[in-house]
Amino acid sequence: MGIADCFFWNVASIAKYSWWIANKKDSLWVRWVHHIYIKQDDWWNYSPTVNSSWVWRQICKVKDKLKLVMNIHTWVQKPFTTQQTYDCLMSARVQVPWNPFVWNRLCLPKVNFISWLFAKNRLLTKQRLLRFGVILDGVCCICATGPESQDHLFFYCQFSRQCLQLVSQWLGLNWTRFSLDDMLHWKFRSLLKKQVVMACIASLIYSIWVCRNSAKHDGCIPRPNRVLQQIQSMVKFRLQVLQSEANLLKSRPWLAARNLLLSANVRAM
Ligand SMILES: [Zn+2]
Repeated sequence: MGIADCFFWNVASIAKYSWWIANKKDSLWVRWVHHIYIKQDDWWNYSPTVNSSWVWRQICKVKDKLKLVMNIHTWVQKPFTTQQTYDCLMSARVQVPWNPFVWNRLCLPKVNFISWLFAKNRLLTKQRLLRFGVILDGVCCICATGPESQDHLFFYCQFSRQCLQLVSQWLGLNWTRFSLDDMLHWKFRSLLKKQVVMACIASLIYSIWVCRNSAKHDGCIPRPNRVLQQIQSMVKFRLQVLQSEANLLKSRPWLAARNLLLSANVRAM
Protein backbone atom coordinates (compact mmCIF):
# COMPACT_ATOMS: atom_id res chain seq x y z
CA MET A 1 0.00 0.00 0.00
CA GLY A 2 3.05 2.25 -0.03
CA ILE A 3 2.89 2.97 3.70
CA ALA A 4 6.38 3.13 5.23
CA ASP A 5 7.22 0.79 8.10
CA CYS A 6 7.66 3.25 10.99
CA PHE A 7 10.10 1.00 12.86
CA PHE A 8 12.48 0.62 9.91
CA TRP A 9 12.10 4.27 8.92
CA ASN A 10 13.13 5.22 12.45
CA VAL A 11 16.15 2.90 12.29
CA ALA A 12 17.12 4.38 8.90
CA SER A 13 16.85 7.91 10.33
CA ILE A 14 19.04 7.04 13.34
CA ALA A 15 21.53 5.39 10.93
CA LYS A 16 22.45 8.91 9.82
CA TYR A 17 24.41 9.37 13.07
CA SER A 18 26.42 6.21 12.32
CA TRP A 19 27.19 7.55 8.87
CA TRP A 20 28.30 10.90 10.33
CA ILE A 21 30.51 9.20 12.93
CA ALA A 22 32.05 6.79 10.40
CA ASN A 23 32.80 9.68 8.03
CA LYS A 24 33.94 11.98 10.88
CA LYS A 25 31.60 14.71 9.77
CA ASP A 26 32.81 18.13 10.76
CA SER A 27 30.37 18.86 13.59
CA LEU A 28 30.75 19.61 17.27
CA TRP A 29 28.62 16.56 18.27
CA VAL A 30 30.67 14.12 16.13
CA ARG A 31 33.94 15.48 17.54
CA TRP A 32 32.50 15.19 21.04
CA VAL A 33 31.42 11.50 20.70
CA HIS A 34 34.79 10.59 19.21
CA HIS A 35 36.58 12.34 22.06
CA ILE A 36 34.35 11.15 24.94
CA TYR A 37 33.02 7.75 23.85
CA ILE A 38 34.87 6.16 20.94
CA LYS A 39 38.37 7.52 21.59
CA GLN A 40 40.88 5.25 19.78
CA ASP A 41 38.40 2.45 19.03
CA ASP A 42 37.12 1.49 15.60
CA TRP A 43 33.52 2.77 15.35
CA TRP A 44 32.18 -0.45 13.76
CA ASN A 45 33.64 -2.60 16.56
CA TYR A 46 32.89 -0.16 19.36
CA SER A 47 30.56 -1.20 22.23
CA PRO A 48 29.08 1.36 24.64
CA THR A 49 29.64 0.97 28.37
CA VAL A 50 26.73 0.34 30.74
CA ASN A 51 27.09 3.90 32.01
CA SER A 52 26.56 5.42 28.55
CA SER A 53 23.39 7.40 27.98
CA TRP A 54 20.26 5.66 26.62
CA VAL A 55 20.37 7.70 23.40
CA TRP A 56 24.00 6.76 22.75
CA ARG A 57 23.29 3.07 23.37
CA GLN A 58 20.39 3.22 20.87
CA ILE A 59 22.68 4.76 18.24
CA CYS A 60 25.18 1.95 18.84
CA LYS A 61 22.39 -0.64 18.64
CA VAL A 62 21.36 0.69 15.23
CA LYS A 63 25.02 0.62 14.16
CA ASP A 64 25.20 -3.09 15.09
CA LYS A 65 22.00 -3.77 13.16
CA LEU A 66 23.41 -2.03 10.06
CA LYS A 67 26.52 -4.21 10.25
CA LEU A 68 24.36 -7.32 10.04
CA VAL A 69 22.18 -6.35 7.10
CA MET A 70 24.29 -4.25 4.72
CA ASN A 71 27.77 -3.76 3.33
CA ILE A 72 28.76 -0.89 5.58
CA HIS A 73 32.05 -0.16 3.75
CA THR A 74 30.15 0.61 0.54
CA TRP A 75 27.37 2.35 2.43
CA VAL A 76 29.65 4.90 4.16
CA GLN A 77 31.31 5.84 0.87
CA LYS A 78 28.03 6.92 -0.74
CA PRO A 79 26.12 10.08 0.21
CA PHE A 80 23.64 9.28 2.99
CA THR A 81 19.93 9.19 2.26
CA THR A 82 17.31 7.89 4.67
CA GLN A 83 15.31 6.41 1.78
CA GLN A 84 18.20 4.29 0.49
CA THR A 85 19.08 3.06 3.96
CA TYR A 86 15.41 2.27 4.59
CA ASP A 87 15.21 0.30 1.31
CA CYS A 88 18.31 -1.73 2.29
CA LEU A 89 16.84 -2.51 5.72
CA MET A 90 13.48 -3.49 4.23
CA SER A 91 15.02 -5.81 1.66
CA ALA A 92 17.00 -7.60 4.39
CA ARG A 93 14.16 -8.03 6.88
CA VAL A 94 12.93 -11.51 7.67
CA GLN A 95 9.28 -12.05 6.83
CA VAL A 96 7.21 -13.99 9.29
CA PRO A 97 6.05 -17.30 7.76
CA TRP A 98 2.36 -16.64 8.46
CA ASN A 99 2.32 -13.41 6.44
CA PRO A 100 0.39 -14.83 3.40
CA PHE A 101 -2.20 -16.45 5.67
CA VAL A 102 -2.87 -13.46 7.89
CA TRP A 103 -2.80 -10.75 5.23
CA ASN A 104 -4.76 -12.71 2.65
CA ARG A 105 -6.61 -10.29 0.34
CA LEU A 106 -9.64 -12.59 0.26
CA CYS A 107 -10.33 -11.96 3.95
CA LEU A 108 -12.38 -9.12 5.38
CA PRO A 109 -10.24 -6.70 7.45
CA LYS A 110 -11.88 -7.88 10.71
CA VAL A 111 -10.86 -11.46 9.77
CA ASN A 112 -7.29 -10.30 8.99
CA PHE A 113 -7.08 -8.69 12.40
CA ILE A 114 -8.29 -11.71 14.39
CA SER A 115 -6.05 -14.04 12.30
CA TRP A 116 -3.10 -11.80 13.11
CA LEU A 117 -3.81 -12.06 16.85
CA PHE A 118 -4.29 -15.84 16.41
CA ALA A 119 -0.94 -16.22 14.59
CA LYS A 120 0.80 -14.30 17.36
CA ASN A 121 -1.08 -16.27 20.05
CA ARG A 122 -2.40 -12.99 21.46
CA LEU A 123 -6.15 -13.57 21.56
CA LEU A 124 -7.43 -12.87 25.05
CA THR A 125 -8.46 -16.42 25.88
CA LYS A 126 -9.29 -17.28 29.47
CA GLN A 127 -5.90 -18.95 29.81
CA ARG A 128 -4.19 -15.61 29.11
CA LEU A 129 -6.62 -13.69 31.33
CA LEU A 130 -5.89 -16.15 34.16
CA ARG A 131 -2.16 -15.47 33.72
CA PHE A 132 -2.88 -11.72 34.05
CA GLY A 133 -4.84 -12.46 37.22
CA VAL A 134 -8.06 -10.75 36.04
CA ILE A 135 -10.34 -13.84 36.15
CA LEU A 136 -10.56 -16.97 38.30
CA ASP A 137 -12.36 -19.37 35.98
CA GLY A 138 -10.38 -20.71 33.01
CA VAL A 139 -12.91 -23.17 31.58
CA CYS A 140 -13.85 -23.04 27.87
CA CYS A 141 -16.88 -20.76 27.36
CA ILE A 142 -18.28 -22.98 24.60
CA CYS A 143 -18.01 -26.59 25.81
CA ALA A 144 -17.10 -26.09 29.50
CA THR A 145 -15.03 -29.30 29.39
CA GLY A 146 -11.49 -28.02 28.94
CA PRO A 147 -9.20 -25.11 29.77
CA GLU A 148 -9.81 -22.23 27.36
CA SER A 149 -6.43 -22.00 25.65
CA GLN A 150 -5.99 -21.03 22.02
CA ASP A 151 -5.16 -24.66 21.18
CA HIS A 152 -8.29 -25.98 22.86
CA LEU A 153 -10.58 -23.32 21.43
CA PHE A 154 -9.55 -23.75 17.79
CA PHE A 155 -8.32 -27.34 17.59
CA TYR A 156 -9.79 -29.52 20.33
CA CYS A 157 -13.12 -27.99 21.34
CA GLN A 158 -16.02 -30.20 20.16
CA PHE A 159 -17.82 -27.20 18.64
CA SER A 160 -14.74 -26.08 16.66
CA ARG A 161 -14.18 -29.61 15.38
CA GLN A 162 -17.75 -29.77 14.11
CA CYS A 163 -17.32 -26.40 12.36
CA LEU A 164 -14.02 -27.49 10.80
CA GLN A 165 -15.62 -30.71 9.62
CA LEU A 166 -18.40 -28.77 7.85
CA VAL A 167 -15.94 -26.33 6.27
CA SER A 168 -13.68 -29.19 5.23
CA GLN A 169 -16.59 -31.12 3.62
CA TRP A 170 -17.81 -28.02 1.82
CA LEU A 171 -14.37 -27.34 0.37
CA GLY A 172 -13.99 -30.99 -0.65
CA LEU A 173 -11.05 -31.52 1.68
CA ASN A 174 -10.44 -34.18 4.24
CA TRP A 175 -9.16 -32.29 7.24
CA THR A 176 -9.85 -33.12 10.83
CA ARG A 177 -7.27 -30.61 12.04
CA PHE A 178 -5.31 -27.71 10.61
CA SER A 179 -2.17 -25.88 11.64
CA LEU A 180 -0.48 -22.74 10.40
CA ASP A 181 2.58 -24.73 9.30
CA ASP A 182 0.49 -27.18 7.29
CA MET A 183 -1.51 -24.39 5.71
CA LEU A 184 1.55 -22.53 4.50
CA HIS A 185 2.85 -25.67 2.79
CA TRP A 186 -0.38 -26.73 1.12
CA LYS A 187 -0.06 -27.52 -2.55
CA PHE A 188 -2.84 -26.24 -4.78
CA ARG A 189 -3.00 -26.01 -8.53
CA SER A 190 -3.60 -22.27 -8.42
CA LEU A 191 -2.76 -19.49 -6.01
CA LEU A 192 -6.36 -18.35 -6.03
CA LYS A 193 -7.63 -21.72 -4.76
CA LYS A 194 -5.04 -21.68 -2.01
CA GLN A 195 -6.08 -18.13 -1.10
CA VAL A 196 -9.77 -19.12 -1.03
CA VAL A 197 -9.07 -22.10 1.25
CA MET A 198 -6.85 -20.00 3.53
CA ALA A 199 -9.54 -17.27 3.61
CA CYS A 200 -12.11 -19.90 4.67
CA ILE A 201 -9.88 -21.15 7.47
CA ALA A 202 -9.12 -17.57 8.60
CA SER A 203 -12.88 -16.83 8.53
CA LEU A 204 -13.44 -20.02 10.56
CA ILE A 205 -10.97 -18.77 13.19
CA TYR A 206 -12.78 -15.41 13.23
CA SER A 207 -16.20 -17.09 13.53
CA ILE A 208 -15.09 -19.39 16.36
CA TRP A 209 -13.77 -16.37 18.22
CA VAL A 210 -17.09 -14.53 17.70
CA CYS A 211 -18.98 -17.62 18.94
CA ARG A 212 -16.72 -17.79 21.99
CA ASN A 213 -17.48 -14.13 22.77
CA SER A 214 -21.17 -14.70 22.23
CA ALA A 215 -21.07 -17.70 24.61
CA LYS A 216 -19.15 -15.68 27.19
CA HIS A 217 -21.21 -12.48 27.10
CA ASP A 218 -24.68 -13.53 25.84
CA GLY A 219 -24.75 -17.20 26.85
CA CYS A 220 -25.70 -18.42 23.36
CA ILE A 221 -23.78 -20.33 20.68
CA PRO A 222 -24.88 -20.50 17.04
CA ARG A 223 -25.22 -23.89 15.34
CA PRO A 224 -22.18 -25.08 13.33
CA ASN A 225 -24.33 -24.88 10.14
CA ARG A 226 -24.91 -21.18 10.78
CA VAL A 227 -21.14 -20.69 11.24
CA LEU A 228 -20.55 -22.33 7.86
CA GLN A 229 -23.08 -19.98 6.22
CA GLN A 230 -21.35 -16.95 7.76
CA ILE A 231 -17.96 -18.13 6.47
CA GLN A 232 -19.39 -18.66 2.99
CA SER A 233 -20.92 -15.16 3.00
CA MET A 234 -17.69 -13.49 4.13
CA VAL A 235 -15.53 -15.19 1.49
CA LYS A 236 -18.17 -14.68 -1.20
CA PHE A 237 -18.31 -10.97 -0.43
CA ARG A 238 -14.55 -10.55 -0.86
CA LEU A 239 -14.66 -12.53 -4.11
CA GLN A 240 -17.40 -10.23 -5.35
CA VAL A 241 -15.17 -7.19 -4.75
CA LEU A 242 -12.40 -8.82 -6.82
CA GLN A 243 -14.68 -10.37 -9.44
CA SER A 244 -13.16 -8.63 -12.47
CA GLU A 245 -9.71 -10.18 -11.95
CA ALA A 246 -8.66 -12.56 -14.72
CA ASN A 247 -7.51 -15.44 -12.50
CA LEU A 248 -10.82 -15.24 -10.65
CA LEU A 249 -12.73 -15.67 -13.89
CA LYS A 250 -10.55 -18.68 -14.79
CA SER A 251 -11.52 -20.42 -11.54
CA ARG A 252 -15.27 -19.93 -11.94
CA PRO A 253 -16.10 -23.67 -12.22
CA TRP A 254 -14.13 -24.44 -9.04
CA LEU A 255 -15.82 -21.55 -7.22
CA ALA A 256 -19.26 -22.57 -8.56
CA ALA A 257 -18.79 -26.12 -7.21
CA ARG A 258 -18.34 -24.61 -3.75
CA ASN A 259 -21.26 -22.24 -4.06
CA LEU A 260 -18.85 -19.31 -4.17
CA LEU A 261 -19.99 -18.18 -7.58
CA LEU A 262 -20.37 -14.46 -7.59
CA SER A 263 -23.80 -13.02 -7.26
CA ALA A 264 -24.94 -9.42 -7.36
CA ASN A 265 -27.05 -9.83 -4.22
CA VAL A 266 -24.34 -10.90 -1.78
CA ARG A 267 -24.03 -8.50 1.11
CA ALA A 268 -21.26 -7.87 3.60
CA MET A 269 -21.93 -9.19 7.05
ZN1 LIG B 1 -14.28 -26.03 24.38
